Amino acid sequence: GGALRMNAGTRTEWIGSRVVSLTTFQPGRGLLRRRGDEIAWGYRESSLAPDEVVLECELAAEPADPFAVRDKMESILARRKAAQPLSEATCGSVFKNPEGASAGKLIEQAGLKGARVGGARVSEVHGNFIVNDGTATAADVLALMKAVRDEVQKASGVRLEPEVHLVGFSERARG
Ligand SMILES: Cc1cc2nc3c(=O)[nH]c(=O)nc-3n(C[C@H](O)[C@H](O)[C@H](O)COP(=O)(O)OP(=O)(O)OC[C@H]3O[C@@H](n4cnc5c(N)ncnc54)[C@H](O)[C@@H]3O)c2cc1C
Repeated sequence: GGALRMNAGTRTEWIGSRVVSLTTFQPGRGLLRRRGDEIAWGYRESSLAPDEVVLECELAAEPADPFAVRDKMESILARRKAAQPLSEATCGSVFKNPEGASAGKLIEQAGLKGARVGGARVSEVHGNFIVNDGTATAADVLALMKAVRDEVQKASGVRLEPEVHLVGFSERARG
């Protein structure tokens, strides 16, 4: 559900481009069924209404050799294991990649790998991942996100926008 709402993907492909049809429920409107191309799919966003819940989705795929598919999956996973802290507690990428740039690179160039607030720290493996060492609070993570955003803006002039949704903070606390 979250992958569809957020149009999860990589630099080369998004799940939205594979959606043939989608069934959702919206309070007051009931069950809604739409073709995938009736939904606007953007970078980590979709035109689904905020109170719309995804129930079912039909995806298109092409037949392919199972061994080739497994090979591709394994090589992508190996690349990710080398470049992302997959064995630690993270929520994946924290900031969106700005147009034509990499959030992780900008964070690294600002010298922020290893930066820490309480139990939250910027991963040494990938600058766009925040690791919870087991004791981090949501406030630690938010404070670190703000520090990273401000330092990157100072260093490069780019203002990073969060990819993750912040839940349970007031508008003021989100800053
Ligand atoms: C190590 C790691 C690597 C990752 N790599 C990538 C990556 O390469 N690319 C990428 O795009 N993402 C990546 N992610 C993030 C990943 O896409 C999301 O965590 C996942 O797709 C979210 O799906 P979820 O169902 O867990 O949604 P949640 O995280 O639970 O929710 C995400 C949002 O969708 C909403 N939502 C959840 N379910 C529904 C539903 N049924 N109907 C409507 N709205 C719903 C939630 O309210 C929330 O706003 C990574 C995460 C981790 C931890």
